[in-house]
Amino acid sequence: MSNEQIIQPHSRVQPRSVHGRFRTIKTGILIFAYAMFFILPWLRWERAYGPDQLVLFDIPARRFYMFDLVMHAQDVFWLTALLFLAAVLLFFVTTLFGRVFCGYFCFQTLWVDAFRFIESKIQGDRVARIRLERQAWNGEKVLKVGGTHALWLLLSFWTGLTFALYWGDAYELTAQFFTGQAPAAAYGTAFILMATTYFAAAWMQEYICIHICPYSRFQSVMFDIDTLIVSYDKKRGEGSTGRVKPIKDLREHDTRLAQGHGDCIDCGYCVQVCPTGIDIRDGLQISCIHCALCIDACDSIMDKQGWERGLIRYTSENELGGKKTQFLKLRTVGYGIATLLATAYLVWMVSSTKQLELSIVQVRNPLFVTLSDGSIRNSYEIKINNKTMSPARYKLELEGLEGAKLSLGSEVGDLVVKPDSSLRVFAQVNYMPPSTGMISKNREFTFKLTPLEGEVQEPEVVVSHFMLP
Ligand code: SF4
Ligand code: SF4
Repeated sequence: MSNEQIIQPHSRVQPRSVHGRFRTIKTGILIFAYAMFFILPWLRWERAYGPDQLVLFDIPARRFYMFDLVMHAQDVFWLTALLFLAAVLLFFVTTLFGRVFCGYFCFQTLWVDAFRFIESKIQGDRVARIRLERQAWNGEKVLKVGGTHALWLLLSFWTGLTFALYWGDAYELTAQFFTGQAPAAAYGTAFILMATTYFAAAWMQEYICIHICPYSRFQSVMFDIDTLIVSYDKKRGEGSTGRVKPIKDLREHDTRLAQGHGDCIDCGYCVQVCPTGIDIRDGLQISCIHCALCIDACDSIMDKQGWERGLIRYTSENELGGKKTQFLKLRTVGYGIATLLATAYLVWMVSSTKQLELSIVQVRNPLFVTLSDGSIRNSYEIKINNKTMSPARYKLELEGLEGAKLSLGSEVGDLVVKPDSSLRVFAQVNYMPPSTGMISKNREFTFKLTPLEGEVQEPEVVVSHFMLP
């Protein structure tokens, strides 16, 4: 890998457009990702209780809604499991296919791609843009460059606003936003994201990938000689006497072969389409985001020449050296198993999360009170969390403390908890200890919460302690 760690200012990369398999895949992913991001907050989802937005981060209520899944603040460890899964999945995919995340899925790649699409529609393809960049400022340049930046700003603004819409009711928040009645946080979020999107996708572009993103720095530790990466087949391209343009009597494949020349006709198309402005023929480089556009470019040249495709292709170092690519290796299998385990753990966590939670905290000051009739009183703070979307009714009882009486203060009869809500109750337990025999000062017993109505059927039992003098 060549050393390009030092920032080397160069003129702005003006990639040429290209058609082909990988460009089609990238465009498909771009359309899908944009559709998901921009449409999701506008979609409604009927719930028995709670907001009707399909995806919503409800900060005041500390809830995250996605379809019928409701994530509460106490479920935040799902997020840690999700982040762990994302990390091992990234390692697994990178070990097999190099930087496919960078080339196809990264936000920076997607937004720069969209920005460049806008730019090429207004200013034309590479040659026209370079000419426009070099020409003196006149009406045409002001109109084209100004129009490009205006559309970039509009897309950046729409990106920022859309992000803000995930945190409130999209329809209501949009109406408030444009009438000056939205919360300050909504304006702050939208405009900060607008500014960062515009800065990163319009001005920084490939600089983020080359000089700022940490992922490009540690990718090399995940690559090995069996990783499939975008590579130039140097042996085929250079032959024994090097690459040469198809001039005069060097147009025919056989003639070139006979003279020791390779299949690279030195057209430079692979370099012109590269979004980071590098030459893949120089070998694996830190600036290569593995977008595979140089493969499309070179394949189209090979097609024109009538030669076999694949001078630039996804291949491994082993394959280029004439050996077989080994996919089943200890590291790959290890990352694969870790990915499966992390997925299973996340699914298990989400599916086994309790819909009814009971927590008991004993009041410690005072730990106990001796009443005039000789009985002892302990107090407890009880919290019942009904995480279902239906109202529920419960009966709270004591078990394992014979003759003890439970009093719930102002709560008389069954305990009723609204959907997706919690109820706090102050409980007192009065107990007359037996007058004979050995008596432990710390008696273990249980609180049993039995659902009488609602979605949950199973009772919830919590072990607690009763303290005696
Ligand atoms: S060298 Fe090829 S794969 Fe790498 S960034 Fe440039 S066009 Fe994409
Ligand atoms: S596109 Fe292919 S033939 Fe043209 S310079 Fe690149 S590697 Fe050589």
